[in-house]
Amino acid sequence: MLTGKCLCGTIAYEIDGELGPIFNCHCSKCRRWHGAAFRTRASVPKARFRWVRGGGSTSSSSWSD
Ligand SMILES: [Zn+2]
Repeated sequence: MLTGKCLCGTIAYEIDGELGPIFNCHCSKCRRWHGAAFRTRASVPKARFRWVRGGGSTSSSSWSD
């Protein structure tokens, strides 16, 4: 099991099993979102991911170029 949290501990999650492929994405959206040359990403099936704390306080955003 993998676990993670934000620096203050308000948000925490658990992942059953291993991460999917890990890669650095250099697309314009990832560069803009992170203000860097790339964003490191990994895929996890929803069924293996769960919020431990604070999951309801997150939001999603849509991209516009
Ligand atoms: Zn990308």
